[in-house]
Amino acid sequence: MLSKSKYIRGLQCERALWLDIRHPELAHYPAATLARFRQGRDFERSFKETFPHGIDISSRLRGRIGQYPVLTAQLLSQPGEVVLFEAGFVYDGVLVLADVLHKQADGNVTVYEVKDSPHVSDTFRHDVAVQHYVIAHALPSVVQADLFCPLPELRHFYLLHRDDAGNFVPEDLTAYAQNQWDTTAQHIARFKQVAALADEPTTPMSDHCQNPYTCPYHRHCQQA
Ligand code: SF4
Repeated sequence: MLSKSKYIRGLQCERALWLDIRHPELAHYPAATLARFRQGRDFERSFKETFPHGIDISSRLRGRIGQYPVLTAQLLSQPGEVVLFEAGFVYDGVLVLADVLHKQADGNVTVYEVKDSPHVSDTFRHDVAVQHYVIAHALPSVVQADLFCPLPELRHFYLLHRDDAGNFVPEDLTAYAQNQWDTTAQHIARFKQVAALADEPTTPMSDHCQNPYTCPYHRHCQQA
């Protein structure tokens, strides 16, 4: 199954996607990258703390990723307001975990993808687009509508980033993401083909190895 991170990897390089699936042990992350990941998690945690009643699915299930969609469906079936951290959804063979999902009592759902950055990059837009595609399609089927719990519907998807002073800045990317559905579906179909390849793609190294991120398979490709 693809994940959001593999989808983003595939946009950078199909060879990197294939390696992520077949040989993740070859990845090497420099210390500076790991420090940036930690800083991003700290910023994400500070935003989650603004939802004191949020339920953290990752702390309940730890690494049992396959169970995230099941628990998410159970929790979203509760009537009334529900806030979930790392809610899991699967559609079209892609699993995504939403940083923060807020279901209101009337069924309206808002999702936040949290990025510790003052800018909204194209990669962040792709990140939101694939999550919106999966969640919007999966949501109606995860909950049975009844008198007390209306069918949830994804109404808003925000990229939550920061300004230079560290304040939270919500950027509404709902319309953008919805307009990307066809493109997102085409990328997913292509990445499934890459995942099924028996042999490693022979993509040559070039500028794309550093853009938008330094590829963790740099050493492997240099030695190949
Ligand atoms: S180092 Fe470059 S060519 Fe090799 S997998 Fe990464 S992005 Fe692709």
